[in-house]
Amino acid sequence: MAADESVTLLILGAGGDLTHRLLLPGVGSLLKIEPTRKVRIIGADRADLSPADWKKRVEEAFDTVPVPARPKRSVLSRTRYQRTNLLDATELSDLIGSLAGPLVIYFALPPAVSIGVCKLLEDIDLPAGTRLALEKPFGSDEKTARAFNEQLHRVAPEEQIFRVDHFLGRSTVLNLIGLRFANRILQPVWNREHIERVEIIYDEDLALEGRAGYYDKAGALRDMLQSHLLQVLAVFAMESVAELSATEVQDQKNQVLRSTHLWSNSPKRASKRARYTAGTIGRRKVPAYTREKGVDPARNTETLAQVQVEVRNNRWSGVPFTLRSGKALGTPRKQIVAYFRQVPHLPVGFDNTAAPDKLIINLNPGAVSFVLTMNAEGSPMDLEQKELRAELAPGWMLPYGEVLREVLDGDTMLSVRGDAAESCWRVMDPVLKAWAADRVPMETYPAGSSGPDGWLPGDSVVN
Ligand code: NDP
Repeated sequence: MAADESVTLLILGAGGDLTHRLLLPGVGSLLKIEPTRKVRIIGADRADLSPADWKKRVEEAFDTVPVPARPKRSVLSRTRYQRTNLLDATELSDLIGSLAGPLVIYFALPPAVSIGVCKLLEDIDLPAGTRLALEKPFGSDEKTARAFNEQLHRVAPEEQIFRVDHFLGRSTVLNLIGLRFANRILQPVWNREHIERVEIIYDEDLALEGRAGYYDKAGALRDMLQSHLLQVLAVFAMESVAELSATEVQDQKNQVLRSTHLWSNSPKRASKRARYTAGTIGRRKVPAYTREKGVDPARNTETLAQVQVEVRNNRWSGVPFTLRSGKALGTPRKQIVAYFRQVPHLPVGFDNTAAPDKLIINLNPGAVSFVLTMNAEGSPMDLEQKELRAELAPGWMLPYGEVLREVLDGDTMLSVRGDAAESCWRVMDPVLKAWAADRVPMETYPAGSSGPDGWLPGDSVVN
């Protein structure tokens, strides 16, 4: 769909956190790059908002970007808000009946409400080609993900469904595709022969930041590993494509996810979980997670999760991929690290042994580094590691802008396809079951620390 064709973006849950913090700024960042793009934003929520209040919200979100005056004026002059109980069939039908296509319905709603709205949409005539955009979680396990997919397919075909994972819109994740497939030097080494292990880490120094309502029910595994980090793994490990089309990229990504299994098939050996206790991050005093406002300690929610998986195919079998993410850690670390195997023979005569070469792909801020071993300055028989680093320009667009561009254009390349959503649960369901049955101990770490000792395998593979 051409960018100059006007698309109606109907945001369900327009009064919520996602809309305010991520979606509207995402539209804004798209308009900043593409000021002539025509999009009409319609907000719907059960809150009672006046037209002026709604416009103010959109304007405030745009000002965080900031959006140039002309596209801002154009969108503000055409946007409107409709108070709607989205679970009321008549109100939902009236809302949609008042809109012309091409239409994108964006579900910025709690998951249970999204499912309810979807059921109602089955009986409502949608403009031809209406697209549905959904936020994670896509179900709560493999079975419910499949049921939700079937539900969605009763409303629209798969190519009109966008399961949004904004990590796939990050410039640093997109950069992985160019880095991998446009560099001859990487082609022969991107496999089990040369790569010993891979870490995909998303450690945050932020604690709960008032998000108990969502996070306490999700936890680190569902919030990050089951969704975003498995998607990043799929892009890291996928085979090349003939062209960058949605079908080919999705097919290759799902091949990886279908081949991904817990290391040694054992949730007990492959997973770790922990929760932060009181501590200090920089100068901030952070209470224990269980003392944070809105947290129910009985839920036993983890704030740090680590899972080791294996991609069982010819390229990757035997290479551990460690996925890890947590909150309230002392040093934010958001990166993919590929550790290369040692050289088969190091000439006798060096004073020390070589550490493994590393390729570090920093997800935030964006940078790519090769860590190579070379002679130490002034001491030629010593070896030391040096970093060759290329900084990536800050994202040309917010990740939500990138994802929304694809949704508005009808291109599903950055979307999580239904089968991939099910595969991600299939990988993590055994871990969730083992944790629910308390078969993996809940460890602790003080806020501001680097997590419990000995979690990451260090510089050699732990089997
Ligand atoms: P919220 O709960 O903040 O917002 C959802 C909005 O929907 C609220 O304004 C809520 O109103 C409204 N709503 C609920 N039920 C109805 C109804 N029957 N009719 C009309 N409006 C209704 O959720 P978020 O914005 O945080 O998240 C939305 C989705 O995005 C979720 O699926 C979440 O998992 C996902 N997500 C959120 C992220 C975030 O950072 N917030 C990040 C990534 C994904 P009320 O307040 O009155 O309940």
